Amino acid sequence: MDTNAFIELEKKVGAHNYAPLPVVLERGKGVWLWDIEGKKYLDLMSAYSAVSFGHCHPRIVAAMTGQINALCVTSRAFHNNRLMPFLEKLCHVAHLDMALPMNSGAEAVETAIKAARKWGYEKKGIPDNKAEIIVAEQNFHGRTTTITGFSSEPSYKKHFGPFTPGFVKIPFADMTALKKAITANTCAVLFEPIQGESGIHLGQQGWLTECRKICDENNVLMILDEIQSGLGRTGKMFAFEHEAVQPDGVIVGKALGGGVLAVSAFVAKRSVMDVYTPGIHGSTFGGNALAARVGLEALNILEDEHLLERSRDLGEVLMTALKKIKSPLIHDIRGKGLWVGVEIAAKVPASKVCYELMKKGVLTKEAHDTVIRFAPPLIIEKADILWGIEQFEAALAALSSH
Ligand SMILES: *Cc1c(COP(=O)(O)O)cnc(C)c1O
Repeated sequence: MDTNAFIELEKKVGAHNYAPLPVVLERGKGVWLWDIEGKKYLDLMSAYSAVSFGHCHPRIVAAMTGQINALCVTSRAFHNNRLMPFLEKLCHVAHLDMALPMNSGAEAVETAIKAARKWGYEKKGIPDNKAEIIVAEQNFHGRTTTITGFSSEPSYKKHFGPFTPGFVKIPFADMTALKKAITANTCAVLFEPIQGESGIHLGQQGWLTECRKICDENNVLMILDEIQSGLGRTGKMFAFEHEAVQPDGVIVGKALGGGVLAVSAFVAKRSVMDVYTPGIHGSTFGGNALAARVGLEALNILEDEHLLERSRDLGEVLMTALKKIKSPLIHDIRGKGLWVGVEIAAKVPASKVCYELMKKGVLTKEAHDTVIRFAPPLIIEKADILWGIEQFEAALAALSSH
């Protein structure tokens, strides 16, 4: 089958809930991907940050194949010998006490929401069914009905209602608005420290510190969704470490699965997590031995290969290279570490830039309609970044000339 035949077949038998670029991939190694026609591409998106270690990282593959031959899934009806070391390491890197493993990011967000509400009723004394969680406008936390219910993206919501009540929206990183929005029934805030899917938006330096203070003053849990921003993406283990704050709960996913599995977790203080008792929440696959083995290896690779430092240093290379581009199509460049968004003039759809990049052998995808995202695997080499950005410059030049 050729490229078109694959795409036509997918259109026929697959739901149309994505609009992928017309490329059919069959192989990946490090920062490179190959399509079924043998054409090679530089991956500057890392599957929305799930592939921070590059494709088929040898240590991930070795850990996974080793574990596949030993033990994979037993459910949490029994203990397995891989879960404890994984959760211990995860708690250690997050400076938190206990973790609850799930699979997809959205499930871990749901786990955090349920924990926050239960904590609100049982520890804060909020009257039953009155708990409120404060979230940000333009948030992205996943695709379940509860989560999309508090999204501000109309297309994520239309005809998916009715939605779960109990969420209050404020402008992102607006701490004056947070103060006003808090009531006696507020159990938690749930924020991305840097908003990813909305187009890579950073708040003012200091907003997380302010947020911590307001949460402390009001006995409100500070929960951060670091599914995309965490595990080195911004040049620190977690984006909240750019300010000296400690959240009460952190949600991780994406890169935690080493680019091969869906591994997520809610990590929290003991006083939050101990609201969970046997039987009231769970997941058949969450915390399985294979996922735990891969998750631990992913965390170890971050350290052993100094990927936080790489992300910080190469992030500067990426940012500098982007800022050198002279194009009337570029309106703004923002980001941290190896996570940068380039806002494109509205007259050229960002999707068109991505299409042009694909033709030049670079793969990425727009965030929102006007932002090109650059989030390469953290193992990328400087020369490959520079080559990729050269292609970007050429793509912009091609598009602005007609
Ligand atoms: C991707 C993402 C999610 C959802 O993760 P899934 O694995 O797709 O369910 C949640 N929050 C943030 C910040 C994300 O980037």
